[in-house]
Amino acid sequence: MKWIIQVLLSTGLILIACSSKQVSSKVFSGDQELELIVLGIAQDAGYPQANCKKDCCTSLWSDKSQRKLVSSLGIRDAITQKAWLFDATPDFKDQLQVLTRSNATNYDLEGIFLTHAHMGHYTGLMHLGREAMGADAIDVYTMPRMKDYLKTNGPWSQLVSLGNIALQELSDAGTISLAEGRLKVQPFLVPHRDEFSETVGYRIETAHQKILFIPDIDKWSKWDTDIAQLIGEVDLAFLDGTFYRNGEIWGRDMSQIPHPFIEESLSLLKNISPEDKAKVHFIHLNHTNPLLNSKSEEYIDFGSTGFELAEEGSIFSL
Ligand SMILES: [Zn+2]
Ligand SMILES: [Zn+2]
Ligand SMILES: [Zn+2]
Repeated sequence: MKWIIQVLLSTGLILIACSSKQVSSKVFSGDQELELIVLGIAQDAGYPQANCKKDCCTSLWSDKSQRKLVSSLGIRDAITQKAWLFDATPDFKDQLQVLTRSNATNYDLEGIFLTHAHMGHYTGLMHLGREAMGADAIDVYTMPRMKDYLKTNGPWSQLVSLGNIALQELSDAGTISLAEGRLKVQPFLVPHRDEFSETVGYRIETAHQKILFIPDIDKWSKWDTDIAQLIGEVDLAFLDGTFYRNGEIWGRDMSQIPHPFIEESLSLLKNISPEDKAKVHFIHLNHTNPLLNSKSEEYIDFGSTGFELAEEGSIFSL
């Protein structure tokens, strides 16, 4: 895979919102008309997290440049000038601005693909309602239980009744074709704490590239798919990197909130090829994850593993 390093200048707002540092991005040698943008890398509650008084977050209350938005990807198409979001997060308004306003082109939000009904993944839909955008029939793609949840629970049900959103039902492994057939999106069920909805990951495919997005999953061992094999079949994989290790959240039983610890993923995937390791970009990092701190021992050690961290503002040409 040929990678080209490109400096991201087009998304000025993400720099204002989250960071004053320059953001670099890696670009596939693919179709230059379709772009994927990493819009956020933090767990549902963002970084810093509300009421956190510990070292992980204290400096971020005064130094906003180090903040991270909630995990989300965006895709935009220069030909149709349409854009799609993967998850509607509490940081929706900043992320929509970054996705749809570049120096060269303005894009219209065409649709939103939701993974599940945990707070970081759908509550941004509130911005589509009459108190905010007053959107007109934005397609919201969901699995059946998630669709029913939105239809039958306020305030989300009002988005449906007022026609702000148009719910589009997905099925496990069913493919949605977008951008005149140049972009295909396929959800697949993954094991997770499904209190209110199913949970899916997404496989995103163009003529040139295959992308995997799994922001939330319980342990890899609970899934009947071999993640190592799946990484081999795609070009880029954004994978759940919520926690670095067990015990990270002091005083809380972490078995109640299962995720593959990054330590576990590194161990499970230690024998995949260097090329496959470079495809893996960990995303959805909890505020306690030491990889959010570039001065931590873990961050420095991670640099030699061959794996990557998703970076807010990165653009991948598809
Ligand atoms: Zn989440
Ligand atoms: Zn914290
Ligand atoms: Zn979740």
